[in-house]
Amino acid sequence: MSYDLVIIGAGPAGLTAAIYAKRALLKCLILEKALAGGKLNKTADVDNYPGFTSIKGPELAEKMTEHTKYYEIDWQQEEVLKLEKKEKEFIIRTSMGNAFNSRSVIIASGAVEKELGIKGEREFMNLGVSYCAICDGFLFRGREVAVVGGGYSALETALYMSNVASKVYLIHRRAEFRAEKEIVDKAKKTPNIIFLLNSILTEIQGGETVKKVIVNNSTNNKNNELLVNAVFPCIGLSPFSSFAHELGICDRENYISIKDDCSTNVPGLFAAGDVARISEKKIKQIVTAVAEGAVAAQSAINYLERL
Ligand SMILES: Cc1cc2nc3c(=O)[nH]c(=O)nc-3n(C[C@H](O)[C@H](O)[C@H](O)COP(=O)(O)OP(=O)(O)OC[C@H]3O[C@@H](n4cnc5c(N)ncnc54)[C@H](O)[C@@H]3O)c2cc1C
Repeated sequence: MSYDLVIIGAGPAGLTAAIYAKRALLKCLILEKALAGGKLNKTADVDNYPGFTSIKGPELAEKMTEHTKYYEIDWQQEEVLKLEKKEKEFIIRTSMGNAFNSRSVIIASGAVEKELGIKGEREFMNLGVSYCAICDGFLFRGREVAVVGGGYSALETALYMSNVASKVYLIHRRAEFRAEKEIVDKAKKTPNIIFLLNSILTEIQGGETVKKVIVNNSTNNKNNELLVNAVFPCIGLSPFSSFAHELGICDRENYISIKDDCSTNVPGLFAAGDVARISEKKIKQIVTAVAEGAVAAQSAINYLERL
């Protein structure tokens, strides 16, 4: 069977893309390997999505899925293993041995947060360990927190938390940052951000929630305790894009490079949400994922009209 549009991933970006595409009467298929709603299923409370003062992540996932399914979209629970383009058609191969043909594709497969892999990290997940300061930072207002990492997202998180928390320890294993000088300088000028360089977070401890962390200074090999109520690991995300690597659309960190209309450098191929990157400054949130889902769908519609 051949489709106008295949959408890979049914998180907020993919579900929104499907709604826009179906309302333009495209023949489309969603391929989702796990739960509809994507990362919303891993989110306790969503307090920053307009229309809901507070809603449980899985409940928002259900509402978005119900809305999408209202349009009677074709849907298969299959993992995409390979995406190819032959002349003007895409071939999407899945874990079930199926191959779907489509004139256009939107990749909305998301990304997963890299873990520090240290003692206490999993134990205190959602109990003080958070991978999203914009989502959870407010819970730690007036408290002392730790941010781990040396790239743009760590600096951005430290600056964000400096407005919310009383003190922010920025723990980075090297002396130099990977982030732009401008944002590093801004953080250095912020009085309640304390830089702990050449330092490695080795353990997170607490009772019911996070109470303290152990930090090893690699210059003198001394361990120090810091009393903090939250830890924000910001050591990057791993985008789910391996099935598309051969198309040459990924940047050096495996994000899919997109333009402002969500197009890639392969005609007919679009990307949206956490897997896609237009600039390092993009914030990865539900609102930005749904916005890009809509833009990607409209771009696919325009592309198919011109084909
Ligand atoms: C703990 C946590 C809390 C958060 N809280 C908030 C919050 O409060 N507010 C907010 O705005 N944002 C929050 N976020 C961020 C938000 O969840 C994401 O930005 C958003 O879900 C991204 O949507 P997406 O559709 O791009 O990707 P995802 O939600 O990750 O969905 C991608 C989907 O693609 C599927 N998929 C992946 N690979 C394949 C494949 N090969 N084949 C088929 N399917 C595939 C996945 O199974 C998944 O369902 C939070 C994130 C985390 C981790």
